[in-house]
Amino acid sequence: MIRPEEHRIIVETAGESSGHCDCCGMESRCVWGAAHEGDATLAVYWVHWTPGHLDESGADIDLVLGRWGDEATADERFAVALLHRRQPDGNSALMVVDAAGRPPVEGDIARTALAREDVIGTPLAALIFSITDAIYEQDGRLF
Ligand SMILES: [Zn+2]
Repeated sequence: MIRPEEHRIIVETAGESSGHCDCCGMESRCVWGAAHEGDATLAVYWVHWTPGHLDESGADIDLVLGRWGDEATADERFAVALLHRRQPDGNSALMVVDAAGRPPVEGDIARTALAREDVIGTPLAALIFSITDAIYEQDGRLF
């Protein structure tokens, strides 16, 4: 029998940076960290947003899953990208988008970029949303 506490995802926050939004020059923020389950690192994540127009353009979330550690390479990892948006009714929505061209893929952290259809409707989707739930709950730096 699977006990829920064995599947608790623990988020470890790491660095953060600020910059300027490509579209408007307002200050933008990027925070990153890792999601662990037991001894295993499930994913490393980055969240990037511009506080001045979070409602209009939302936040970009990049996840990289696969093998981590000194001997692991980008060939063993894949990227998933999500878009966080606040909807007109005030609730937030999280949408999987294509990861091609996102920074972890361009920066050679992950060789493979998953498209939206690679994730939605697959068992991977449940894992992705468990990880993002844990990030929202545990990373106090987010909007
Ligand atoms: Zn902007």
